[in-house]
Amino acid sequence: EIILDHYRSPRNRGELPTPPAAVAQGHNPLCGDEITVYLLVDDARVGDVKVGGQGCSISQSSASMMSQAIKGKPVAEVRALVRRFKGMMSIPDDDGNPIEPDPAVKLGDLEALQGVVKFPVRIKCAILGWNTLLEALEQA
Ligand code: ZN
Repeated sequence: EIILDHYRSPRNRGELPTPPAAVAQGHNPLCGDEITVYLLVDDARVGDVKVGGQGCSISQSSASMMSQAIKGKPVAEVRALVRRFKGMMSIPDDDGNPIEPDPAVKLGDLEALQGVVKFPVRIKCAILGWNTLLEALEQA
């Protein structure tokens, strides 16, 4: 239900002027999903975020929930949330080790995507916006 709500009424939809905002584009060829993340980092905090793109309900609702979860947050907290979400999707860290859930990092609505982990093909849909966010963070 939460997933459908975010799919039908995506949060923080649109664009930001670049610069000052950073922009990154992600593509999931397996499903045809496309996500564009516009990110304005101000004083080590996400000042604003906008999401564009098109694709399946999982990819678009995941990006919508992500934008809601990171807006106004310090970049360090955003990185911790990305890590927590990847862990929930059973994606290993850069060294190939499983990511242990950090109980201090709250997922909120994002927990609705937990069931996706049972469908490996859909994990790529769910994670697309997050990988695109990491790229935008590198540029910000
Ligand atoms: Zn998809």
